[in-house]
Amino acid sequence: MAGVLSLLGFAACGKVSLLEENLIDDNYDNYYEIFVRSFRDSDGDGVGDLNGVTEKLDYIRDLGYTGIWLMPIHPSPSYHGYDVKDYYNVNPNYGTMEDYDNLLTAAHEKGIKVIIDLVVNHTSSQHPWFTASASGDAKYRSYYTWSSSYKEGYNKNGNSYYESWFSGDMPDLNLDNSAVRGEIENIMKFWLEKGTDGFRLDGVMYYYKTDGQKSVDFCKWIKDTAVKYNENAYIVGEAWTNRSTITDFYKSGCDSFFCFPAAQADGYIASSVNTQSAATYWSSIKYVNDMAGQYIPAPFICNHDTGRAAGIMQRDPEKIKFAYGLLSMYSGNTFTYYGDEIGMIGSQNDPDKRIGMLWDKPENVTKAPPGVTSTEYIFDGVDKQLKDKNSILNYYKVCNNVRNAFPSIMRGTTKLLANDDPYVLAFSKTYGDETVKIVINFSTEKKTVTVDGKLAQGICVSGSVKQGSGTLTMPKYSIAILT
Ligand code: CA
Repeated sequence: MAGVLSLLGFAACGKVSLLEENLIDDNYDNYYEIFVRSFRDSDGDGVGDLNGVTEKLDYIRDLGYTGIWLMPIHPSPSYHGYDVKDYYNVNPNYGTMEDYDNLLTAAHEKGIKVIIDLVVNHTSSQHPWFTASASGDAKYRSYYTWSSSYKEGYNKNGNSYYESWFSGDMPDLNLDNSAVRGEIENIMKFWLEKGTDGFRLDGVMYYYKTDGQKSVDFCKWIKDTAVKYNENAYIVGEAWTNRSTITDFYKSGCDSFFCFPAAQADGYIASSVNTQSAATYWSSIKYVNDMAGQYIPAPFICNHDTGRAAGIMQRDPEKIKFAYGLLSMYSGNTFTYYGDEIGMIGSQNDPDKRIGMLWDKPENVTKAPPGVTSTEYIFDGVDKQLKDKNSILNYYKVCNNVRNAFPSIMRGTTKLLANDDPYVLAFSKTYGDETVKIVINFSTEKKTVTVDGKLAQGICVSGSVKQGSGTLTMPKYSIAILT
């Protein structure tokens, strides 16, 4: 199916004309999630690396992202890196600390923030703390939680059992131990003092698996500790859970928690596309805002653990685009998984969700991670999509651009204007003295909407938004931004 977009000849949504950006120096950004191993290989060994990310910073910035989240970059026995064995170094397959420093410098010069995964619920079982702990070392024994008898969530070592909810390779740190907290503080200090802009907190639900309030309190400790070393440190936590629990986590004062209820095949975004329901989407806008309260929502469609956006949207390029359009009208920071902008797909098998970025030809991608069973690419690579104004990639670019052009889209207070037609939603967003109106046609039919204001941008999967006197004519799955 490669090339399907141009073969089907979708009509242009006008030109891909971008608006002038109006960026504010705060913690609101469009973020791009990168699995370094599979993104870009700079030295020809077939493994993606930090210099490869640096090479592609202009590409990322041109797409409209002003932040990147790097999945774990530390030495680890696993291909994915979520079991760290040295928090103060860079995975040698990814490069050197100098490469990381260069990446940071280059990113900051281009106006891109860099946050990294902070995986401190657990370490690798190969981390020296754990090997010392397992051997009974007096200092390190209490870095982990040991039991003489089996308990749920424990694995065996020698005659004892240790807490390790994810797997035996990932022993849970004893976060009640002040020495462990001291270690975590030093890790945060190390990376923040280099200029790292913040952290993505892995698995916050597991900090205290059986005590949610203590997990929230530990998130607060992390945020309070991070701002000692960078007052602007941006912290986004992974609480893979429901709306009410995410609301509780926001009480920690961390900037963001990923909005899992908006993501995946049954989330707000996919449901709004599939039901074509303005009311469903409007409810979700309120939910997304209410969860975050005074803090920053973090909506997304998918990540490295879920099905990819193109799969969630049934490989339909129009639905793939419209889903991203709906994501982009939420307040807060959107997170986009690398490759989604070209419609890459995965499978139920985790490694298949993390295959090489298709820059041009499939034979040029990075080596498949271990365990990959499918490396299917259903749309063109970056090189062709950049040149095709109707591509998924260029649709993503227009969506990111309006978020960067109108601060109110990411930060504004929302107000319902009209939803007389169940397929059409009109609402406003106000931030400071800026108000934009957003009109969305959820249906597969053309709609004429009565609305005043000046059309600033139409975002369409095909056709274009046309403005008459007091009316908008909107093609299927289209979004209009008016000032
Ligand atoms: Ca390499």
